[in-house]
Amino acid sequence: MLTFAAGPSKVYDKLPRYMQDAYEAGILSANHRSAVFMNLYQETETLFKEKLHLPDDYKLLFTSSATENWEIITQSVVRSAGFHIFSGSFGKKWFDYAKHIEAGTYAHKIDPDETIDVSSLHIGEEFDLIAITQNETSNATQVRMKTIAEIANKYPEKIIAVDTTSSMGGIEMDFSLADIWYASVQKCFGLPAGLGVLVVSPRAIQKAEAKGEKGRYNSLNFMLENAKQYQTHYTPNVFGIYLLKRVLQDLEEIQHVEERLVKRMRKLEDAIANTSKFRMLIQNIEARSTTVLAVEGREEFISQIKKAAEKEGMQLGGGYGPLKPTSFRIANFPAITDAEMNKLIQFLKQY
Ligand SMILES: *Cc1c(COP(=O)(O)O)cnc(C)c1O
Repeated sequence: MLTFAAGPSKVYDKLPRYMQDAYEAGILSANHRSAVFMNLYQETETLFKEKLHLPDDYKLLFTSSATENWEIITQSVVRSAGFHIFSGSFGKKWFDYAKHIEAGTYAHKIDPDETIDVSSLHIGEEFDLIAITQNETSNATQVRMKTIAEIANKYPEKIIAVDTTSSMGGIEMDFSLADIWYASVQKCFGLPAGLGVLVVSPRAIQKAEAKGEKGRYNSLNFMLENAKQYQTHYTPNVFGIYLLKRVLQDLEEIQHVEERLVKRMRKLEDAIANTSKFRMLIQNIEARSTTVLAVEGREEFISQIKKAAEKEGMQLGGGYGPLKPTSFRIANFPAITDAEMNKLIQFLKQY
């Protein structure tokens, strides 16, 4: 069954090869204080710079998930409180985790069809961090880099943290615009779940050091101390890190990956626009995601199309949360081949 779910999502076709290679290379038993692991870590970070255009002075860290990153940011970076801007369920969850740690955390909720109106934003002195869910997987919306740039320009003194869980590895990020970016590998990286990545700027590192939070297993300062030597503070998911390295090695430079996804998304959108039973959940083109498409329709049609797709060997992603009965989602992730996407587009044309 080919899955178009937006996470866990289809893994790269080369995965069996990578897995076998990991075993044969002896990496699976490598000690995380050994040169073998330290090299693997360093190579993976270098690939982030080469393929994803991570700036040279940013640091790559490994965590267990995006959810863990939610906690780390408030626990280890935020001094006063975070200002969270979001339109959907993942942004709301991040806000909830942050609020649990810091009661002064603020939620600035926008409509899914709305883009962030930066000129009317008022983020007071009491907030030292701005949290943005760049790709909101639940409702298939996306915050454009130019909007993040406007926010960064307006608030140069604040730290900006960006959730790119379902877009990193698929579209090009201008990492220089913000200090903290993170993702999980089971989305756009086309890998099995169980590994999170967190990238931090020198300014974010300074800020964490100034806060001085330590003592927890995932205190950012503790992680950074180990990362200086390309080590981790606990026995990490070496297998996952190895697979990530292989995916990055085989990935085209990110602007080419993005170009391919943009083209495909246009075709997908056209196919949906031409159906009589379905429409795109997000009408505002400026708010729509490049990597996830949400489609809405009457409940009976949604369950019908899901069943028909399964008969053809394709699994559509379910709608998220309250949107479950009246929508489905399609991941436009790089591990899905153009031929597979074309098959889905042909299928959609019957409606
Ligand atoms: C999937 C997702 C998460 C959570 O990722 P985990 O790996 O399950 O922690 C967070 N944010 C967004 C935008 C997501 O799509």
